[in-house]
Amino acid sequence: MNIHEYQAKALLKEYGAPVSEGRPVLNAAEAEALARELPGPLWVVKSQIHAGGRGKGRFKEAEAGEKGGVRLAKSVEEVVANVNQMLGKTLVTHQTGPAGKQVGRIYLEDGSDIARELYLALLVDRGSSRISFVASTEGGMDIEEVAHATPEKIVSFTVDPASGLSDWHGRRVAFALGLTGDQVKQCVALVKILYKAFVEKDMEMLEINPLIVTEQGQLKVLDAKVGFDNNALYRQKDIMALRDETEEDPKELEASKYDLNYIALDGEIGCMVNGAGLAMATMDIIKLYGAEPANFLDVGGGATKEKVTEAFKIITSDPNVKGILVNIFGGIMRCDIIAEGIIAAVKEVGLKVPLVVRLEGTNVELGKKIISESGLDVIAADDLRDGAEKIVKAVKQ
Ligand code: ADP
Ligand code: MG
Repeated sequence: MNIHEYQAKALLKEYGAPVSEGRPVLNAAEAEALARELPGPLWVVKSQIHAGGRGKGRFKEAEAGEKGGVRLAKSVEEVVANVNQMLGKTLVTHQTGPAGKQVGRIYLEDGSDIARELYLALLVDRGSSRISFVASTEGGMDIEEVAHATPEKIVSFTVDPASGLSDWHGRRVAFALGLTGDQVKQCVALVKILYKAFVEKDMEMLEINPLIVTEQGQLKVLDAKVGFDNNALYRQKDIMALRDETEEDPKELEASKYDLNYIALDGEIGCMVNGAGLAMATMDIIKLYGAEPANFLDVGGGATKEKVTEAFKIITSDPNVKGILVNIFGGIMRCDIIAEGIIAAVKEVGLKVPLVVRLEGTNVELGKKIISESGLDVIAADDLRDGAEKIVKAVKQ
C-alpha cells in the first residue's frame, strides 16, 4: 500500500525527521487561509497523487496551464491560482502511464532555499533479506536514469539485522552524499529516524528524492514516497487509516473486498485461475501464443460460488477484455463450484466475449456437465496449451 507525500511527511515528522511546514488542502479557500498562515515568501503547491515525477509531469487539461504538478508560488494570489488550476485535473507523469491520475488534494508547504538536492532511500533487499540504503548525490532526478547513466554515483549497502543500525551507517550515508561538519551529525540522526520508522511501520520502500541541504546548511526531507508491506497491514491500523481508495484500481479494490488475489494488467485476455503458480503459467502461455493477459487472478483454494461469481464479474467489467480463459486445476477447489460460479455470473452480467474453459481435477466430470447443460456458449479446452491456443485464436479473429 502506498500513501501520499503529505501523509508520509507527517509520519516522518512524528519520528523527528526535518520536514517543511505544510498541510493538505481540498479547495482554494483552504489554500488561501493556509498560505497566510505559512511564513512565505515562497510557497510550494504540490499535487498529491500516488506517483512520482510530478514536477516534470504535465496536465491533460489546457486550463491547468503549461507547468507541472509541483509549482512554486511567490504570493498568496499565486498559490490560489495554482491550486485552482491543478485541483480536479489529470496529471500525467512517467509513473502514471498515459491515462494519468486525477488530483484530488494539494499539499501546500513552505518553500525552501535549496543549496543541494540529494537522494536517499531505504528498501527491503530480497536478495540478502535485509534493509538496504541507497544514497546518491544526484537528487531530484529519476534514480533509474542515474543508475543507468552514472552507476558510480549510487552508493548502496545493507544493514545486518542482528547487529542493527549504528552511527557508522549514518556516517557512511553522509560520506556518500558528500556531507561535512554539522551536516554529518544531522545525517546520522536522520538515518536513525528513517530506519526506526521503516522497521516499526513495516515499510517496503521509503524514498526521499530530494533530500536537500538548505542554503542555511540544514538537511530537509523535501519529498517522501512510502510503500508498506501489505501482508503486515493487519498490525498497522494507523497506516491502514491513511489508505486512499481513489488512488487504487477500482477492479483491484473490488477484488480485495472478496479476498481475491487480483492484479489488473494491460492485455486483452481475462484470466480466471486457481493457484498463483498456475496463474503465472497461464499468463506465460497466453503470451507464448501471441496475446497479452488482462489480469492476474488467483481465486484461491477454498473459493465459494459467490467468490467465483465476483471474480468473473470483475474480469468482465474490464473494457479491454476481449476474451476470457478459465483455467482450473481442481484440488481443494472443486470444478463444479467453478462451473456454478461462472454460470451465476454470466446470468447476472451476460457474456459478450469468447469464453474458453479448461477444467481438470476434482469433480471435473460434474463441472463439465454443469457447463454443457447450461446452454452457455463456452469453448471447452482439453489442456493448458489447447486452452491458450483457443482463446488467442478466438480473440484474434
Ligand atoms: P516529484 O518528485 O514528484 O517531481 P518533488 O516533491 O520531488 O516531486 O518536487 C519536485 C521538485 O520541486 C524538487 O526536486 C524541488 O526542486 C522542488 N521542490 C519541492 N518541494 C519544494 C519546497 N518545499 N521548496 C522548494 N522547492 C521544492
Ligand atoms: Mg521527488
